[in-house]
Amino acid sequence: MRSIWAMPRFFRQGVRPSDCPALLRQLLVRRDERFLDVVRRAVFGNPRSPYLALLRSVGCEWGDLVVLVRAEGIEGAMRQLADRGVYVTGVELKARRPIVRGSFTLHPRPRDFVNPLIAPHFFVPTSGSTGGSSLIGRVLAERREFALLLGAGLVAHGARNPVSVSWRVAPLSMFDFEALGCRTIGWFNPVSYASETTRLGQLFIVAMAAAAGRRLPVLRAMPLDQPGRMLDWLRRRLREHAEIVVVGYTGAIVRVATTAAERGLSLSGVIWNPIGEPYTAERHAAITASGGRSMPQYGANECGSMAMACPHAEQPGELHVGTHRVAFVRRGPDRAGDDGGALAITTLDPYTPTIMFNTDLGDDADISTRDCGCVFGQIGLTTRIMNVRPFGRLSSEGITFEAVDIVAILERELPARFGGHATDYQIAEEHSADGRSRLILRVHPRVRIDDTHAVRDFLLHAIGRGGVADRHISRVLGEADAIQVARQAPIATAVGKILPFVPSRTRRSGDS
Ligand SMILES: [Zn+2]
Repeated sequence: MRSIWAMPRFFRQGVRPSDCPALLRQLLVRRDERFLDVVRRAVFGNPRSPYLALLRSVGCEWGDLVVLVRAEGIEGAMRQLADRGVYVTGVELKARRPIVRGSFTLHPRPRDFVNPLIAPHFFVPTSGSTGGSSLIGRVLAERREFALLLGAGLVAHGARNPVSVSWRVAPLSMFDFEALGCRTIGWFNPVSYASETTRLGQLFIVAMAAAAGRRLPVLRAMPLDQPGRMLDWLRRRLREHAEIVVVGYTGAIVRVATTAAERGLSLSGVIWNPIGEPYTAERHAAITASGGRSMPQYGANECGSMAMACPHAEQPGELHVGTHRVAFVRRGPDRAGDDGGALAITTLDPYTPTIMFNTDLGDDADISTRDCGCVFGQIGLTTRIMNVRPFGRLSSEGITFEAVDIVAILERELPARFGGHATDYQIAEEHSADGRSRLILRVHPRVRIDDTHAVRDFLLHAIGRGGVADRHISRVLGEADAIQVARQAPIATAVGKILPFVPSRTRRSGDS
């Protein structure tokens, strides 16, 4: 029953965006201490922690870790530990594969990674974009940790006193903006379906906010396949509000912004906050073409939002890492040889849903520091990530190839050759009952194409361009007739994400 009182209290105790930079700086001063405190309690104090077993397998006890962090800093320590095998990959985190490092083997359960330090206030279902959906317990204090980064972001991007719109079912963004005093004027579901749990959950939240004197909107359907509706709604609201921050999945936002550009309508005054999908240069160009600004962020259900766009970015998708609550290092290829590099994430705050200790989420990214002169840099958030990309692979006919290359072909090359936008093409992996695998290239019907064979051939050619191995792949795919073109709109996930490629789920039938 903690949540009954926690939620109204949360809504009452706000923090102004202008105060966020100073509060972040305070947390950064205590960074090492916060990290060590979390590891002491959630890893060394938790006999079931897979990280404890991994640390002990390389002979690293509590005292050793303290010495290592004092000598090398958090990132230096985590890099050294990763080199010795202390890391967890995305598939290991989901317990789809045991953790094997040399002669050490561990079979953790998904719940062994859950933060033992929190008693959740509410539960949010995962998106299920990479398979099954599960519930993740969250606490409101975590929202405040992130709201500091978001508030500093609003200051950095020159937003004055915006109102906010949440175009996702999970109430998380709404909590963030309400904590910053940015009134929520719309809460929308990007898909037309809402479960009974969703409906009850949102009524509960609206009631709790009302108890604290906040009026939240009720969740309404705003389907992403009717972008004109969102466009019209925003244009009407822009007459009353100078600035509107809209949080939503990147693909859905692309559709609204391109519809506006096609109709010659301006969305100046909108600050888009794209989340949940790859943020490419093509998507950035589409989003900003109608006059709105864009402030992408990087986050995950497992550990919340972790990075926020630099207002002085040299290329789209350059983000400042919220190093007050996470540490990022780039891990080299897995010894098993199955993955490329990985963005290994370590959580430092005690409120994260999942404890991450050199844990990746199936993404890779470039990490750097640059003196950009923006608010984030000034307060000491100098670590930046860019080119965040999934390192997943697609497979067909026993051949796998890098998803990264495919994203560029889908979002840049196909639209440039045949028309349409970054979200009009999608590849889905399909495994048929006889064990054959095929790739379905979905092309939005609004893209006018007379000859679908030409599209298929173009894709094959683009895949085969890289080198000898790529040419081989291209030839096998062509001869096996493994690519089929379907004239249908790219399909969104259950929560409304439009991903460039959709891996098959049939192979996962053995999962528990
Ligand atoms: Zn910056």
